[in-house]
Amino acid sequence: MKKKFDKEILGNGIETVRNMDNQSISSTYRGSISFNVGPFVGNEESILNSCPTRALSTTKDNEQTTIAIDHGKCIMCGNCSQVAPEFITIQSKPASPVKIKKQLSEYSNSHIQSEKSFEEIGNELREKIKKIFGRSLSIREVDAGSCNGCEIEITALNNPIYDIERFGIHFVASPRHADVLLVTGPASKNMEIALLRTYEATPGPKIVIAVGACACSGGIFGDTYATTGGIDKVVPVDVYIPGCPPRPEVLIQGLLLAVDRMIANGI
Ligand code: SF4
Ligand code: SF4
Repeated sequence: MKKKFDKEILGNGIETVRNMDNQSISSTYRGSISFNVGPFVGNEESILNSCPTRALSTTKDNEQTTIAIDHGKCIMCGNCSQVAPEFITIQSKPASPVKIKKQLSEYSNSHIQSEKSFEEIGNELREKIKKIFGRSLSIREVDAGSCNGCEIEITALNNPIYDIERFGIHFVASPRHADVLLVTGPASKNMEIALLRTYEATPGPKIVIAVGACACSGGIFGDTYATTGGIDKVVPVDVYIPGCPPRPEVLIQGLLLAVDRMIANGI
């Protein structure tokens, strides 16, 4: 009975992390897809059609076909790797947050990923927050129509394992007290005005972070009569965090990028 419980409930075998410096991600975790090196040979139509969010595209150069992935659209369903297992593999390493939307696209498996641990990034973040703000960084989370998956990962930032408050980062209830807006969901039409008003109520200078494939591009919800197709259609976005949903380790990388952006903007 216990064995069954372990296998089915605890799944990947890593329930908690004893030491954040030596944390490991389960090898079965779907972090991002990567392309095997070399020119693509095969039926490109079947690969493109396998993707429910149109995250894959092709480019032709000297008669050679290159497949590209937009990490901001990928929901890690794994369909493409089933259609072309020799060319596309699923890796446990998540895709990295970026400041410019174009950087979410990848043409080979050379996407830059941070090798730093949650602890190292958090300490770097704390020093920068102290230096720039002389106080803490305040975040207002805005759910603009998400499935709640991204919220679960954001909530994990406050749990005893990640405990983001020790780095001087706090979640606040009002946008009027916030420096950063952490936005999830595809920005459904019903949430469009609420998101805009929240943005306007946040005092400048402010940073907007799009969290998850939905916020980056519309994700699985796409661009429909009920959704806007990404929060940058409603408010300006400073940092895009891909993933469906992104792990806390990737969220904190995105926060570091946001603070770097504030420094670059002379805040
Ligand atoms: S894993 Fe990502 S790129 Fe592949 S089919 Fe699913 S959504 Fe598309
Ligand atoms: S990105 Fe994925 S987990 Fe996050 S809101 Fe969209 S569907 Fe849900």
